[in-house]
Amino acid sequence: MSTLPRIQRVLSIVFFSSIHIYSTGQNLGSSVKQLCDDTSGTAIRITSLSGKAVFSDAVAALQKAGSDGNEYGLMFGRDSSDSVIISKISTSGAINSSPVNIGFPGAFADAHNHPRNTAPSAGDIYNLIKLNKDHPAFDTRFTILANRTIYATVITDKQKADSFVTRYPPEQTPGFSPRFPEQQFNEFADLKSYLINIQNTDRTKADEIATAFMLDKYDSGVSLMLYVEQKRFQQIIVRELIDDRGNKTYRMELCTDN
Ligand SMILES: [Zn+2]
Repeated sequence: MSTLPRIQRVLSIVFFSSIHIYSTGQNLGSSVKQLCDDTSGTAIRITSLSGKAVFSDAVAALQKAGSDGNEYGLMFGRDSSDSVIISKISTSGAINSSPVNIGFPGAFADAHNHPRNTAPSAGDIYNLIKLNKDHPAFDTRFTILANRTIYATVITDKQKADSFVTRYPPEQTPGFSPRFPEQQFNEFADLKSYLINIQNTDRTKADEIATAFMLDKYDSGVSLMLYVEQKRFQQIIVRELIDDRGNKTYRMELCTDN
């Protein structure tokens, strides 16, 4: 994502280290604006989709079905006249998984509910990258929480996404959702507990911030976007700030330039 020459990156590290370090892992040295500029086209595209009646129909159908506490999913595709269509909802009758019908005509996205108000999971992310590998048009997953929060997980750099899976292959126990490999799994869990216990962040927000941080730090090519005011998708950027005493603070920002 970063286009800063190496020398400039080094200078920005030296400059910040006298006060504090801004870090987003691989994107160290990139400004929030740069990160946002890289993905603004995607944010505009899915915001436009969210203004269509099919999108509100999909959200309403998933919220209604999901009120029984299970997970349901549906597909977004296109008919022969290029209009956006949605499939019927389907379920595997479980609280933490729902089927993806990649054969749905023109499939480019899916949506599923999270009855327990959790942010998109590592499993959601790995499955997105896996499906996208053979079906490049399918690049977006919407997650609808019971509390009405909506997220989009979107492939914003296919090459990086494919490389992420090679560099950090998921841990897969048969019958369970794929997880981050052990080191990243532990890092994610530690970050979440730091946010909850040290920064007094609520659980859902901690889940969201930790997920966005991991996606950025490990250069996943996948962006996490939040549906703000039920109007527009804005990418979540997380900065890690370290003060002179080594104390860390994680600060979330939303891209606004779309
Ligand atoms: Zn999910």
